[in-house]
Amino acid sequence: MTGVEEVAVAPIALQRLEPLLTPERVERLETYVAVARRLLEGRTVWNLNSTARGGGVAEMLHTLVAYAAGTGVDIRWLVVGGDPDFFAVTKRLHNRLHGVPGDAGALDAAARATYDATLARHRGQVLEHVRPGDVVLLHDPQTAGLAQALRDRGAFVVWRCHVGLDDHNAWTREAWGFLRELVEPAQACIFSRESFAPDWVDRRWLRVIPPSLDPFSPKNIDLDAAEVDRLVHREGLVVEGSPLPRDGRVVLQVSRWDRLKDMAGVLDAFAGHLDELPPDVHLVLAGPEATGVADDPEAAEVLAECRALWRALPTRARDRSHLVSVPMDDLDDNARTVNALQRWATVVVQKSLAEGFGLTVTEPMWKGRPVVASAVGGILDQVEDGVSGLLLRDPRDGAELAGALSSLLADAGRREEMGRAAHERVRDHYLADRHLIQYVELFAQLMGEV
Ligand code: UDP
Repeated sequence: MTGVEEVAVAPIALQRLEPLLTPERVERLETYVAVARRLLEGRTVWNLNSTARGGGVAEMLHTLVAYAAGTGVDIRWLVVGGDPDFFAVTKRLHNRLHGVPGDAGALDAAARATYDATLARHRGQVLEHVRPGDVVLLHDPQTAGLAQALRDRGAFVVWRCHVGLDDHNAWTREAWGFLRELVEPAQACIFSRESFAPDWVDRRWLRVIPPSLDPFSPKNIDLDAAEVDRLVHREGLVVEGSPLPRDGRVVLQVSRWDRLKDMAGVLDAFAGHLDELPPDVHLVLAGPEATGVADDPEAAEVLAECRALWRALPTRARDRSHLVSVPMDDLDDNARTVNALQRWATVVVQKSLAEGFGLTVTEPMWKGRPVVASAVGGILDQVEDGVSGLLLRDPRDGAELAGALSSLLADAGRREEMGRAAHERVRDHYLADRHLIQYVELFAQLMGEV
């Protein structure tokens, strides 16, 4: 996809959430919906990002846009595409915002020219849609370069950054140096954690808004045991390893094939500590079909590395580990399969080396699964260590992961209790009502109402 395309999203009535909320929450939400309808009368809210499928931003937009549209607000979603050179630069930015180099390339004038050339091609088309007084939410570095033109158009422009690192380093500073001029025309910036923001972001217009999940989407809806079984054991999912086990327990990590998710590190830790884990336990690493995520150019390479690592393992480790590639041609089907894998797993891992906010942590928590996740970035807010999951102090330490897994696998009561707490944590903090209310608060401030 190299042009600008609108993603059609069918509205969903917010009432669907009500059974999950306290009466106070329902009332508060209704108040804010009324404010939103009034503030946004005659305006359109635009979301711009760079892929309609794969990854947390697309996942979130599908449901949040649907709920917002269900309130009668005019909200729309445009995907601004790019060519491989553009995505090489934006993936470099993504990696460096997470504190690692990614590739060997520079974020120099040539990279900036590549970046600008792609957005310059799309600017006209985007501006045809947006009218003065509209609200535009630009997501991530891929769309930041549209901020100035949209401001000039007379829109309210908000840049939302879904990535970041708590302790900035030379790589993050380089990436922020590249982005500063692009982002500054936006009136407000949204981060998943305050510590992710560089110091030049105006604190009066910085908002911390973490993502949310939708309990009724195909990714999270309840599935009965027969459906879980059918989805997990269907043909063609496993790309390395024997068919997924019908007996025995499963430790799962679901992620894009991105080095910062450290799928290879999970496999390495599992294989290296096999004897410390109960003999019935298998590892499943699942990610999207490698060509399925448009703005993620490293996926094929990372999957290939994991496959090579798997092939080099001793037979006994290979017999108990499985690499899964979930087809991306049908998004609902992809979501239901991930849903089934998360429900089927005994423990879910997210051994990320950096993480803005991990929906792959929140999703299994909603399903009452105990999670073991790295104590990095947004995950620190998502999981209360020892209560709603276990946090890994050093995400690179395979022994720590193995220790956490073996202690959880040995204690069914603890897993159940943790799963219950995890579900409650998501209900209390990470559903759409909180998220939409935070947006309305920001819009009211932008429009000078508060
Ligand atoms: N995901 C998916 N299919 C896959 C792998 C991942 O739908 O094969 C989804 C996953 O369920 C989650 C999202 O992609 O909803 C990843 O979001 P997260 O915030 O964890 O990380 P990101 O990919 O945005 O870095």
